Amino acid sequence: MSAPARIRIAIQKSGRLTEKTVSLLDRCGLEFEWSKDRLFSSCENMGIDLMLVRDDDIPGYLKDGVCDLGVVGLNMVKESEIEDTTQAEVLRKLGFGQCRLALAQPKDRSYAGAKSLDGARIATSYPNTLTRFLENAGVTAKIVELKGSVEIAPTLDVADVVCDLVSTGRTLRSNGLEEVETILKSECVLVKSGKTLSQEQAATLDRLLQRLDGVMNAESSKYVMMNAPLDAVDRIRRVLPGLEEPTVIPLASKDKVAVHMVAREPVFWETIERLKEAGASSILVVPIEKMIS
Ligand code: ATP
Ligand code: ZN
Repeated sequence: MSAPARIRIAIQKSGRLTEKTVSLLDRCGLEFEWSKDRLFSSCENMGIDLMLVRDDDIPGYLKDGVCDLGVVGLNMVKESEIEDTTQAEVLRKLGFGQCRLALAQPKDRSYAGAKSLDGARIATSYPNTLTRFLENAGVTAKIVELKGSVEIAPTLDVADVVCDLVSTGRTLRSNGLEEVETILKSECVLVKSGKTLSQEQAATLDRLLQRLDGVMNAESSKYVMMNAPLDAVDRIRRVLPGLEEPTVIPLASKDKVAVHMVAREPVFWETIERLKEAGASSILVVPIEKMIS
């Protein structure tokens, strides 16, 4: 049998992560042909195939080498414990799907640290992560494993406390629950299975990672242009520490220069005001589409 040539990436078929995952791959320049059943989709301009599955199944597929890469919440990676046995490796954080696994409880219950959980019944879909937290805290509690709708467990008197994923906290609040502790901070990540890649696959992965880094770097950066007197350039650099030395270009008609630089952080109105105070004028802040170092 010849060595596999294409890499297979498992992504969530339909859910909170789907749209942003597809959009990220799109911005990496991958063009997909979607098949009717949408279980598979192959990329036409790179050796990559997508597998569209439930997010819960992705850690298992990574572990068994059914896919080479997976795009999934860190919460699922931690819960499946696939990293611990070198069956998988988190390659990149992807900057979306942020949420936290948190403990929450009815408002009338007191909380003074993890010790308050001794003897409590805690409902969760994340028994492994919760077990690790409780063990570290030296607490004995009863874990009630539920597949979904964890937040209603206290109302049903199935549990005293819940351990669930939260992003805004609205669901918890509307169920009369109060967040008391964060157990895990999560976001969507790119994970590689422990399976060894063929040479061709490894080259495709390198290209993909380089494009991914280019897109992610560009997103967090801005290209900033302004005019200023030459002696203001040092002050400007202190206001806006750039990625590299700024480009300083003489202007034809004035005793001023044009300063161009890549800013690695968001440029807020306050920053622009400070640039003006430092002597800058005609300030332009433009988004960057791709940035390759
Ligand atoms: P599937 O049908 O694929 O099993 P699901 O309903 O289990 O979907 P989603 O609700 O789409 O999964 O959540 C997928 C991931 O989105 C979570 O594992 C988590 O990483 C992330 N996420 C971000 N915010 C939240 C949130 N408020 N609640 C739940 N998950 C969130
Ligand atoms: Zn799921």
